[in-house]
Amino acid sequence: MAAVSTVGIVGAGAAGLALATFLADAGISTEILEKSDAPSALGSGITLQGNALRILRQLGVWEEISRNGYAFNDLGLRAPNAEGTVVAILDEIQTGGPDLPATFGMYRPTLAAIMRERALAAGVVISYGQKVKSVENLDRTARVTTENGTTREYDLLVGADGIHSTVRQLLGFTAEPKPTGMGIWRAFVPRPAEVVRTDLTYGGSCFIAGYCPTGQQDMYAYLVERAQDRHDQNDTSIMAELAAAYGGPWNEIQQSLIDGAPVNYTQFTAHVVEGEWHRGRCVIIGDAAHSCPPTIAQGAAMALEDAAVLAELLIASEALDQNLWAQFHTRRADRASAVVNASVQLGQWLLDGEKNADVPGLMGSLASKLAVPA
Ligand SMILES: Cc1cc2nc3c(=O)[nH]c(=O)nc-3n(C[C@H](O)[C@H](O)[C@H](O)COP(=O)(O)OP(=O)(O)OC[C@H]3O[C@@H](n4cnc5c(N)ncnc54)[C@H](O)[C@@H]3O)c2cc1C
Repeated sequence: MAAVSTVGIVGAGAAGLALATFLADAGISTEILEKSDAPSALGSGITLQGNALRILRQLGVWEEISRNGYAFNDLGLRAPNAEGTVVAILDEIQTGGPDLPATFGMYRPTLAAIMRERALAAGVVISYGQKVKSVENLDRTARVTTENGTTREYDLLVGADGIHSTVRQLLGFTAEPKPTGMGIWRAFVPRPAEVVRTDLTYGGSCFIAGYCPTGQQDMYAYLVERAQDRHDQNDTSIMAELAAAYGGPWNEIQQSLIDGAPVNYTQFTAHVVEGEWHRGRCVIIGDAAHSCPPTIAQGAAMALEDAAVLAELLIASEALDQNLWAQFHTRRADRASAVVNASVQLGQWLLDGEKNADVPGLMGSLASKLAVPA
């Protein structure tokens, strides 16, 4: 008998869909409440590291995912010159194990669609247009009310409602995402033939210029700069201007931008909820509990790992008690904090112009940690 029979999950992102699927597979009645009216078909690319792929394989979707993206095991470094000279190609640690690629790029909406279909096939109920506005811990259940006035009760309520989590606030956690001082331009563009892995360029018009192939035809490119008030977040011409400082594949990327590829600008933020992430019969996971700038591309991986570990404990335990929560905290808090701290540190070194920063040391020790299953 599992610790719970019914679970309500707020949010149909990576964390919510993964948790719901694991629980439904184990016969636990699971409903997701999602504020959007329908699944989103919009988005750019995402970089998934091996430890994220390990959870996706556990979910049974790796085979399908592997047919819908671009796998690679190395990382290129290019010079910020007109030729975009390749100065190094480094082997990456395969954090999901030797039979999974170190890195995998794919189109975000495709990942979401594959995970959603898998959840529905497992028997998860996904209720759209359900914006949660209040949460209450009762004796034996958690009660949740949505903006349209419906009320539901579950043995456990999980806030997987992302970086600006309403559930986090409703439970009284005070941690909030704080700006880290950087902003990122991103564009989804056709893949130049030369792009066969992520290549990073440090310096030039931005702190970092990078890209990740997401398929034979497409990829996403990004430029990380000092955070500023970009009034028009979709102004392609600004990203095209910044891209002009880089060579090699960036010549074609810049042309795609001049031709009007849609762009998006976001400022980096970070937070970690200190202490345990539950209150009574409610808990927060994924970006609701911790978020990081995408300098190491581990946010979705941490969200997926939270889901897998919580599901494992809920299925294996007989009661929703302090023993379960202590195990969850031990297995998740340090690991998620290490990712947030490393992601912020990397950005801070760039902001400070730190010349002696041990970037390979930081990345290597984090990757070794993440290679051990969560
Ligand atoms: C610019 C940028 C680039 C990134 N790139 C990468 C990358 O390459 N690789 C990587 O691993 N990570 C990346 N990340 C991080 C990654 O996107 C997140 O860590 C991940 O999506 C978190 O998943 P989640 O399920 O916790 O939250 P989300 O995916 O945000 O899902 C939360 C869901 O909750 C719903 N919701 C919110 N409030 C309510 C409410 N009140 N009621 C009901 N539903 C609600 C939302 O509509 C949403 O569907 C990036 C982040 C940023 C900002």
